[in-house]
Amino acid sequence: MCGIIGYTGPQAAAPILIDGLRRLEYRGYDSAGITVHSRKKLLSWKAAGKIAVLESQLPETIKSNSGIGHTRWATHGAPTDSNAHPHLNSNQTLSLVHNGIIENADTLKEALLDDGIEFKSETDTEILVHLLSRTVNDNQLSLIDAMRITLSKIVGTYGIAAISNSDPGTLVLARNGSPVIIGIGQGEMLAASDMSALSRYTREVVHLDDGELAVINPNGFEVSTMDAIAKDKASITLSNSTEDYDKGGHKHYLYKEIIDQPETVRRTLSGRLNTRFSTAHLGGLNLDPRELLKITRIKILGCGSALYAGMAGSHMIESLARIPTDAEAAAEFRYRNPVIEADTLYIVVSQSGETFDTLAATREIQRKGGFVLGIVNSVGSTIAREVDGGIYMHAGPEVSVASTKAYTSMLSVFALLAILFGRSRDISPQKGTQLLQELQSIPEKITAVIALEKQIAAIAKKYCKCHSAFFIGRTSAYPVALEGAQKLKEISYIHAEAYPASELKHGPLALVSKDTPCFVILPDTDLLLKSVGTLEEIKARSAPVIAVTDSNNKRIDELADHVIRTPTSDPLVQGIISGIALQLLAYHSAVALKRDVDQPRNLAKSVTVE
Ligand code: GLU
Repeated sequence: MCGIIGYTGPQAAAPILIDGLRRLEYRGYDSAGITVHSRKKLLSWKAAGKIAVLESQLPETIKSNSGIGHTRWATHGAPTDSNAHPHLNSNQTLSLVHNGIIENADTLKEALLDDGIEFKSETDTEILVHLLSRTVNDNQLSLIDAMRITLSKIVGTYGIAAISNSDPGTLVLARNGSPVIIGIGQGEMLAASDMSALSRYTREVVHLDDGELAVINPNGFEVSTMDAIAKDKASITLSNSTEDYDKGGHKHYLYKEIIDQPETVRRTLSGRLNTRFSTAHLGGLNLDPRELLKITRIKILGCGSALYAGMAGSHMIESLARIPTDAEAAAEFRYRNPVIEADTLYIVVSQSGETFDTLAATREIQRKGGFVLGIVNSVGSTIAREVDGGIYMHAGPEVSVASTKAYTSMLSVFALLAILFGRSRDISPQKGTQLLQELQSIPEKITAVIALEKQIAAIAKKYCKCHSAFFIGRTSAYPVALEGAQKLKEISYIHAEAYPASELKHGPLALVSKDTPCFVILPDTDLLLKSVGTLEEIKARSAPVIAVTDSNNKRIDELADHVIRTPTSDPLVQGIISGIALQLLAYHSAVALKRDVDQPRNLAKSVTVE
């Protein structure tokens, strides 16, 4: 979603801003722009569409050492040149970029219009710069003091970077609900909404918290509150490197992220397998063994693929630890005034750690006194900082909008949790050891599925012209079906629905025909024969059947048009392994249909709005 970049220092600002915007591209946007200070003026360029369009409008060289840039994801007003950020005040002495939504924009705008201010855009953001300008001029205030007064009148969410002509080496930043990170360089400072835009220049960063403002100049930064109280914020050093944001010679990030999974899962598991006690070791839980025993229920919350990972996780935990566990969409949960119980463990799952609905659910639970554990990929992100205990996925930055490696790492973390909770209750050391061995074998089994790519690509090519597809799974395979359908929808735009196998006859079977390929996930469990029965039902309606299974049951080969045979695995990890096949299927369908694989239409990477 929307992105911010800012630079102040000795280097030429414009190329750094453009490079930063490019690195934010993956988040999804509809227009972009920059303002730089050059020869005593603020100069701006803005364009609807891709960053290449903006870049084509820039002069070859721009003499400038500071500026701000933005990729917009329109909320108020169409994605046009004039609605793109930055927005400037009437005499072009102030410029700002904004992520988020100003909820009381209409009332504020009316008052400004009455005062004769002319608006150049339809955005809510533009009111900010006019209010700021008036506050600076009326009271002869510095930009930071004027920003504080301006923001006290705002209801809504924001991440902001602003620059003024009178002190152009200083950028002012503010955050409420939308991330802002300060990047500390050598004699230069940066700001961005996302680490990806900074990683080329620095790994030393400071995350602003909600309600904080900051000034940065080439020599340093100062953070303060809305009440002008200075805050002593320590920087953290991140381990991500620039290569994490490269495609590694592949055509798409998504492909790289799929085939990187043997390695990313290895990283997720690394140091977390406690062979001595046949359990998992998770350092950041902040729960001692007694507290673990007191947990009577587990509630998992997430959005999109993180929700499906949570559903899969709930099966893992419930079956191994026998603790009643379920997963729910974070926004649904928080808006239904949920009952929070002292002995329930709440687990929130988010790749970016910035997912607005998941963060809001976290705060609602904590406000009511619940304990929240976070499963997060992005180090130092808001959810990671606010939860009571946490487990990092260590999957490395995920750039493609559709989640693959982070989803798989979420499942791997849930498998660790299931073993940990199971071993603190009923699971024997022998069973624990066997499960740890299963976890260790995941990377090589993923490699074996990736080796099936040719077969999967041929299946994708054969069925990618269909209008609708079904994904079917029973119990623990149902979340796998949900995520498989989600992946196909997201990147190939083929309508896909997931159903629990037993639900087919209660409705969807009416739509099953020779034109609706059915992808059926059949793990080799004691329910296998029931799922084979489902294949019979589908085949009787002449639908093409693609079975994804680790079973050698002959009837599957007789019934299915194609069998994607994955390595035999314990039910704990089977969902992880079969999920990889469905990721490859979605990828090759999208490629065959010539879709924008990494930036699918209408979608954004880290969903920082409600
Ligand atoms: N609400 C602002 C707009 O529509 C900011 C959108 C964004 O976060 O990119 O311009």
